Amino acid sequence: MSTLSNRINNLSESETLAMARLSAKLKSEGLDVINMCLGEPDFNTPDHIKQAAKNAIDQNFSYYPPVSGFPDLREAICRKFKRENNLDFSPANIIVSTGAKQSIANIVLSLVNPGDEVIIPSPYWVSYKEVIKLAETNAVYVNAGIENDFKITPQQLEQAITPKTKLFIFSSPCNPTGSVYSKEELKALADVFALHEQIFILSDEIYEHINFSGVHESIAQFENIRKRVIIVNGVSKSFAMTGWRIGYMAATVEIAEACNKLQGQITSGACGIAQKAAVAALSGDLNSVKTMLKAFHERRDLVVSLLKDIPNLKTNVPQGAFYVFPDASYYFGKIDGTTKISNAPELCDYLLKKVYVATVPGDAFGDPNCIRLSYATSNDLITKAISRLKIALDDLH
Ligand code: PMP
Ligand code: GLU
Repeated sequence: MSTLSNRINNLSESETLAMARLSAKLKSEGLDVINMCLGEPDFNTPDHIKQAAKNAIDQNFSYYPPVSGFPDLREAICRKFKRENNLDFSPANIIVSTGAKQSIANIVLSLVNPGDEVIIPSPYWVSYKEVIKLAETNAVYVNAGIENDFKITPQQLEQAITPKTKLFIFSSPCNPTGSVYSKEELKALADVFALHEQIFILSDEIYEHINFSGVHESIAQFENIRKRVIIVNGVSKSFAMTGWRIGYMAATVEIAEACNKLQGQITSGACGIAQKAAVAALSGDLNSVKTMLKAFHERRDLVVSLLKDIPNLKTNVPQGAFYVFPDASYYFGKIDGTTKISNAPELCDYLLKKVYVATVPGDAFGDPNCIRLSYATSNDLITKAISRLKIALDDLH
């Protein structure tokens, strides 16, 4: 009998975190590795947010916080939804968690039974697939290719729906493709969901503020499906607070209470000091967010223009988040004299070992032809990394 449960044996390690660990290890051994594998802003948390955390320590916010989050944070989240998304929620609809990652796990485990189907447009973010496995049920993938900017159509969605479909999970702006659904595109998907009342929609909006194509549009804005949309968001990406571990969700009271019950048995409330910092983030002005957005926008333009020098890496022009997801399949079957590349994991391994650039194979995100590069790093490092990629890829024949 295996020591470990089937549940854990079937679970894959997060590929993004695994590559980040490998790249940090090589770096600690003295290699000049450029990390383009982890989706993490390279900015420090803004000062007014750090100050709020320092105040919280001095004010002795050292006791167990409420499982669902401090009332002032849940109120700040409701005000944010009203101000930025024109959505009405009350604190009873909001659960604060240890990162958006936990919010997603709470929702899937609270809604899905074994045998239910969960539709995921592919490419998708790594952890959706694994948390669905933990819920002992099936993901149904709807493939969106680069020719459609990695976005699914309403027809594809309709075809994937069965009486067993319980949940749909997507992110816009999308990790890993940077694609952003327009209001019209979201409306067309909402009209399909309106015909299938059993389906809940998990809308992962963690990259809301990293959008180069205009204002953020949430699928929750459409009245005909609003009660079935569960929004996940958090402070990690928008406020450069990945390590503070604060995410949140907004849903009906019934679903929020279910997530509260689950969280109360597993982790309890998220770190109280970090929650107080999140109040400052969500209530303060967005100047630092705008500064970071400008930097990400410039970096997006830089990456896209540098990649033109490597025409065999085919890419879309990402409209948000901080990733590019080029199709690298041209290089599969090629050899640099000694190393033969058969697939994306081998290509990423080759790039790491040969020119010390860490990327993530597209397999982790549902598209084995692609590799993901995070450009949440300086212009200098981006320029250096892409020129190294060019050297390594030019050696493959
Ligand atoms: N959703 C997406 C699409 C992400 O890229 C991430 C990255 N960490 C998360 C959720 C989780 O964010 P966190 O747990 O840091 O709030
Ligand atoms: N979401 C980021 C990424 O996709 C951080 C790593 C993770 O949480 O998996 O790289």
